[in-house]
Amino acid sequence: MTKQTMRDRWRPATKMVHGGGERSQFGETSEALYLTQGFVYADAQAAEARFKGEEDGYIYSRYANPTVSVFENRMCLLEGAQDARATASGMAAVTAAIGCQVAAGDHIVAAKALFGSCRWVIETLMPRYGVECTLVDGTHLAAWRAAMRPNTKVAFLESPTNPMLDVIDIAAVAEIAHENGARLIVDNVFATPVYQKPLELGADIVVYSATKHIDGQGRCLGGIVLSHKDWIDEHLHDYYRHTGPSMSPFNAWVLLKGLETLELRVARQSQSAARVAQFLSDQKTVSRVVYPGRDDHPQAELAKRQMANGSTLVAFELAGGKQAAFDFVNALETIHISNNLGDAKSLVTHPATTTHKNLTPEDRVELGISDGAVRMSIGLEHIDDLIEDIDQALAAAGR
Ligand SMILES: *Cc1c(COP(=O)(O)O)cnc(C)c1O
Repeated sequence: MTKQTMRDRWRPATKMVHGGGERSQFGETSEALYLTQGFVYADAQAAEARFKGEEDGYIYSRYANPTVSVFENRMCLLEGAQDARATASGMAAVTAAIGCQVAAGDHIVAAKALFGSCRWVIETLMPRYGVECTLVDGTHLAAWRAAMRPNTKVAFLESPTNPMLDVIDIAAVAEIAHENGARLIVDNVFATPVYQKPLELGADIVVYSATKHIDGQGRCLGGIVLSHKDWIDEHLHDYYRHTGPSMSPFNAWVLLKGLETLELRVARQSQSAARVAQFLSDQKTVSRVVYPGRDDHPQAELAKRQMANGSTLVAFELAGGKQAAFDFVNALETIHISNNLGDAKSLVTHPATTTHKNLTPEDRVELGISDGAVRMSIGLEHIDDLIEDIDQALAAAGR
């Protein structure tokens, strides 16, 4: 087997360690960090050729940077995408993915259950520029169909959803979008690139907050937009260059290190999350447990079909409402209170008073975010330490 065909056949774990870049002339083991804003040219003719696009090479790090390129290439290999642009944060990725392809008079259809800032971009920011939106219950395909208009350009969803982990049928929504001449963007943060492949399911564009599982160790923000080369060339290329949501080379380098252990971390965290979900479902004071890998999940069959495994997150509801939820969260010792997720450290959040406090009470009811609802992101601690911590905190919350 030649070297090239072997590379082409690499399995995901190998791609995440080796994929995406060439070594420099120094033969470094770890990817080189090119912490530079710009690049110099051998002569004026070379600069001219590069600006004309007649010669390959870097021009300015707002456009592209060698370390950021390795991150983009590695993510493309993992996702099965033809091209990508890395961004400073997940929200920069979402805003660029939407903003680069809509104009005044266009319309967006999005699932209601969205990360708070994604919902703000679609529901509040876009209308300021004359782009209308309709929010639907993402789990109801008839609602997607009914919301489509002749001017609908974009359908947007995340699955599993934040915070209550509903699963939306990506293939079916992609079909509805395509029948109406719209493109589907999937925010794949909760599922991770390890467990769900939106492009294979028919989505046109995938976005990530790399801040979450891809870093997974609480260090830096990052994001990425992945798609087909034609779409990137036509829509994202110029928008990205001129509006400047670019990723810092330093963050790209940190995130490359994150990718090397992504599969291992996500597998271990999901395995522990499934154990936590099982433990919680046996507790009398817990009225509901939502975990995409379980048979009692509202879309269990779809989750099995669409995702290779469960999730690193567990959502559940304490029967005692807000007081019980606060008592529980405050009594945890090993698990810390934070709205972040996908981290090596287990984290807990009370969505109704933090990440989803801006929703109306009616919206919260519709999305299942009750006052007793808690979202937990399971990390890399020993499973027995996590269960012991949850057990004692449930006792403190008045089991
Ligand atoms: C965190 C998150 C984002 C935003 O990412 P940042 O890196 O914080 O900007 C978008 N979507 C989902 C689902 C997220 O969890």
